[in-house]
Amino acid sequence: MKTVNTVVIGAGPGGYVCAIRLAQLGIETLVVEKTNWGGVCLNVGCIPSKALISAATKFSDLVSPKKSGLSDMGISFGSDVEIDMLKLQAWKEGIVGKLTGGIAQLLEKNGAQMMIGEATINGVGSITVKTADGSENIKCENIVIATGSTPIEIPGFSYKDPRIMDSTKALAIKELPKRTVVIGGGYIGLELGTVLSKLGSEVTIVEMGDQLLPGFDPDVVRVLARNLKKSKVPVMLKSRALGWEENEDCASVTVDTPKGEKSLDADAILVTVGRFPNTTGFGLEKLNVNMDGRFIKIDKQGKTSVAGIYAIGDVAGNPMLAHKASHEAEVVAEVIAGHNVQNEAKTVPAVVFTNPEVATAGLQEHEAKAAGYDIKVGKVPFAAIGRALTTGHTDGFIKVVLDASDDRVLGVTICGSHASDLISEAALAVEMDASALDIGLTIHPHPTLGEGVMEATKAALGEAIHILN
Ligand code: FAD
Repeated sequence: MKTVNTVVIGAGPGGYVCAIRLAQLGIETLVVEKTNWGGVCLNVGCIPSKALISAATKFSDLVSPKKSGLSDMGISFGSDVEIDMLKLQAWKEGIVGKLTGGIAQLLEKNGAQMMIGEATINGVGSITVKTADGSENIKCENIVIATGSTPIEIPGFSYKDPRIMDSTKALAIKELPKRTVVIGGGYIGLELGTVLSKLGSEVTIVEMGDQLLPGFDPDVVRVLARNLKKSKVPVMLKSRALGWEENEDCASVTVDTPKGEKSLDADAILVTVGRFPNTTGFGLEKLNVNMDGRFIKIDKQGKTSVAGIYAIGDVAGNPMLAHKASHEAEVVAEVIAGHNVQNEAKTVPAVVFTNPEVATAGLQEHEAKAAGYDIKVGKVPFAAIGRALTTGHTDGFIKVVLDASDDRVLGVTICGSHASDLISEAALAVEMDASALDIGLTIHPHPTLGEGVMEATKAALGEAIHILN
């Protein structure tokens, strides 16, 4: 029987990072993946969605030169802007292929053993892998569970039906639906809904809560809602999709709204109401690990309640984000290698690749208030940042929240162009318990969007230069 020190089940941004780091640390490691190297994130999540967002944005900028500001820059062109969906999909798949191929190489070159197959846990220290060629039993000292998550299906909207899409199907579309109803206004629904709308589908978003992006700063939501309105994407809040039926040539979705039941015609229905962790069907129940709701309960070292069993990533709790999975993965690898480390992260930054982008690190304003902090807030609109004007993207703001007692940076929320790239400075500030002046006195290069983070921090102190305090 094959014996290794550690088996990692799943090769998403949790599992593959853990396996690479374990191998680097000299631990004999086998990583087992049932579908593709890179997991959801690289194959049907973060990467393909961002590829489509980039392409759709370029396309819609050209289709609507007035709205995108290209006309103001004096740029004009013929009216026949077209998109070839098959070519777009091939381009996206090319990116995915490069990245997943790179992961496989890195695993191999670092010395991790790899198996494509479905792992089942038999008990502590024992798994069976079903491969294309048969089954193999493996003995090990440690098992790292990195099995990820799956889209939630709602009753009456089966993903098996050709009209109903989960995020995976939406990312693979080769033909654009004329009308799309998106059920769920969280980050995945907004990102994919924006892609479809920018490519030319008439999109309607149905959200059960009283705001889009539940949990996000209402100021952010206002900017997004305004832009969706400009893009002619209706948003139905406090509304619940009850079911749908096939009409003559399209689907008719029944929605319970505060003003009574409405029906929406759609050629496709995209359901993005969340994801649940993959904790069943592979023998986890035999281990009797403590659970935290649907998630596997872990401590700060990624250990479960059962010795020799670790869990990381989506399966181990919110937020279900790739970078959180990878961070937990590195901690677990170090712990298995005998190092005395634990997960000390103060913040898991979150990014939403909408129009404009949204990014947060640390506490948002309402969260800081709810936590009982006396706060100072500095807010700078993108329209006051010189570099934003030069790019034509002036929507949004940067908001810095300080602890009023010592001017420590509690959190930063950015809604605007390149928020995804700007947020890392904020995450570092929160991690380092930086004070406002650590950012305010750091010379930021001019002209850059990063100056806005510095300016918002100074604004919180009443010392901004380019906006009135
Ligand atoms: P996964 O990536 O889900 O990987 C788990 C792997 O385990 C899978 O490959 C699966 O096949 C394998 N597996 C499961 N069971 C077994 C078994 N029994 N045997 C063998 N293998 C098994 N996150 C971000 O941070 N940024 C983003 O921009 C972002 N965008 C997203 C967009 C979309 C459309 C979606 C759906 C998700 C997005 N996410 C994003 C979330 C991100 O993809 C996940 O948080 C991340 O993939 C979780 O990593 P993981 O390693 O825990 O699991």
